[in-house]
Amino acid sequence: MSRSVLVTGGNRGIGRAIAEAFVAQGDKVAVTSRNGDAPEGAFAVPCEITDSASVDAAFAAVEEHQGPVEVLVANAGITRDTLLLRMTDDDWSQVIDTNLTGSFRVAKRAAKGMLRLRRGRIVFVSSVVGLLGSPGQVNYAASKSGLVGMARSIARELGSRSITANVVAPGFIETDMTAVLPEEQQAAYRDQIPLGRMGTTAEIANAVTWLASDDAGYVTGAVIPVDGGLGMGH
Ligand code: NDP
Repeated sequence: MSRSVLVTGGNRGIGRAIAEAFVAQGDKVAVTSRNGDAPEGAFAVPCEITDSASVDAAFAAVEEHQGPVEVLVANAGITRDTLLLRMTDDDWSQVIDTNLTGSFRVAKRAAKGMLRLRRGRIVFVSSVVGLLGSPGQVNYAASKSGLVGMARSIARELGSRSITANVVAPGFIETDMTAVLPEEQQAAYRDQIPLGRMGTTAEIANAVTWLASDDAGYVTGAVIPVDGGLGMGH
């Protein structure tokens, strides 16, 4: 059955691979981003995730185009890495506002339609560092671990309406976000990964489409690591 899917930050990187995987399955896929691009076969909607009015307008456009959102993937995110003592209030708030509050904004807006439908799937894209911690990423790790508490609370609030909320925690994945890291830092990360390599965006998309599939109908409040073993035990 073709479902109405919305992927935030689906114009590039992990979000793009997720959107492409849903398109390949035959779902109706809308993709939001600031620049308004989308992969082939997806409906492009500009959306600034830090602005509730922009989120509301984007959902209205998606609902008009393909019906109420049945599968939400909250993927948009940023980093502003620096050590704690150098981290400004602005570094902190921009990351929290985008990664954590942005996910809250889209989940809340999507839940309205899902409650009416009495079904829905919400997948939050977190990070291995949310539970593992990472020097220079106090803001980012806090935003990503916050998604776990959010997902589990939503799972408890909305479970009786057949709405699931889960988290995918990617490890070190080849995208624009990691391409900016110095080569020594990338090599140091690779040394710590049991599988000895970075992950691909398609490997994250596989976990997300599975969580949205009928096969995962009894999975909610889960954190699924897709990290080559980097975060084992966390
Ligand atoms: P990219 O930097 O490649 O893409 C980030 C996406 O988020 C873009 O689509 C961007 O849209 C969107 N976005 C950022 N800020 C906003 C905003 N204010 N409003 C709307 N959209 C916004 O990131 P990745 O693909 O690497 O990461 C995707 C997710 O996966 C993120 O949440 C990230 O934290 C997480 N992750 C990534 C890992 C990695 O190794 N790459 C590891 C673990 C987690 P635009 O292009 O318009 O700016």
